[in-house]
Amino acid sequence: MHNVVLIPGDGIGKEITKSVTKILDTAGAKINWIECKAGEGANDELGTPLPEETIAAVKEHRIALKGPLTTPVGAGFRSINVALRQQFNLYSNIRPARSLPNIDSPFQGVDLVLFRENTQGLYIGKEHWVDKEETHAESIAVVTREASEKIITAAFEYAKKRGRKKITLVHKANILKLTTGLFLEIGKEIAQNYPEIEFEDLIVDNMAMQMVMRPQQFDVIVTTNLFGDILSDLASGLVGGLGVTGAANIGDDAAMFEAVHGSAPDIAGKGLANPTALLFSALMMLEYLGEDRLAEKIRSAIYTVLQEHKKECTQDIGGEGNTESYTEAICKLLRD
Ligand code: NAD
Repeated sequence: MHNVVLIPGDGIGKEITKSVTKILDTAGAKINWIECKAGEGANDELGTPLPEETIAAVKEHRIALKGPLTTPVGAGFRSINVALRQQFNLYSNIRPARSLPNIDSPFQGVDLVLFRENTQGLYIGKEHWVDKEETHAESIAVVTREASEKIITAAFEYAKKRGRKKITLVHKANILKLTTGLFLEIGKEIAQNYPEIEFEDLIVDNMAMQMVMRPQQFDVIVTTNLFGDILSDLASGLVGGLGVTGAANIGDDAAMFEAVHGSAPDIAGKGLANPTALLFSALMMLEYLGEDRLAEKIRSAIYTVLQEHKKECTQDIGGEGNTESYTEAICKLLRD
């Protein structure tokens, strides 16, 4: 039995986590779900968006499946997602983008996995005003050897384990010679330890063009925080958008799996939410737990439902159904 902390979160979070846990349970996953609170709901109820009990549960069990959390714009608490990533040093943000059957998208045959460094770069929040009048701002980017080695090694190890053939390291070392130059240099060093995996590097602007011209050429991509943030959404866009893309945040001894979309307050409580993104995140979690065959069985059921039972799917992906009909269609296949 695996203990997994389940954070339903805000908005459509309850609906999609209910769907995902039902599908995993129906497939026979041996998971003991430990439900914990976080987000706006937790803030209203307990006066904190990230209660101590939730942190303690993640500390104890080291693995969490998280629905979307509402982050107020401007004032209010800072992003809980960022807080959780920092607290548990979840330095790898992993975002696969794979073409899906019967999903409207300009591309077919895309099957790439993007590794984004999750803890540094321009996202460390070191910003300040240079002048009193606040007409001149500066932001500091941090890249360290240690963190770069960790994320690049994680990408190579993933490629090796999953039989992937090529790593593309994305940088801007022609301009940002020290920060992304260091990242590139470390990539070249680490690549020497994996002679069976092809290694290439691309400058980020060229990469953006290549990804929309011929995304099929990419296999595993590794990059720094800001570039990864942008390119991972671009990658999702290649295969149908954020509603069908899973994500994992993984550190040395803890992992959090989450949907990349938000809490969708416009459709919350209406039973219309599409659980696919969180479901794909949950499949990454099963793989992390060593349950690859179970993950494959569920993936195959999702593909069949998209291909042959489109009517039962949620409306955002062209179906005529809702969360419940889609969930039930997948569960029916898993039971048969
Ligand atoms: P959103 O992703 O919540 O919604 C954008 C649009 O996509 C909406 O029309 C919504 O109905 C639709 N949508 C999103 N997920 C869907 C799903 N699973 N099924 C069907 N339709 C779906 O983005 P937003 O409106 O900009 O953000 C709302 C809140 O979510 C904000 O508070 C934001 O901070 C938060 N947010 C959280 C996360 C996270 O927890 N990882 C990520 C992004 C945004």
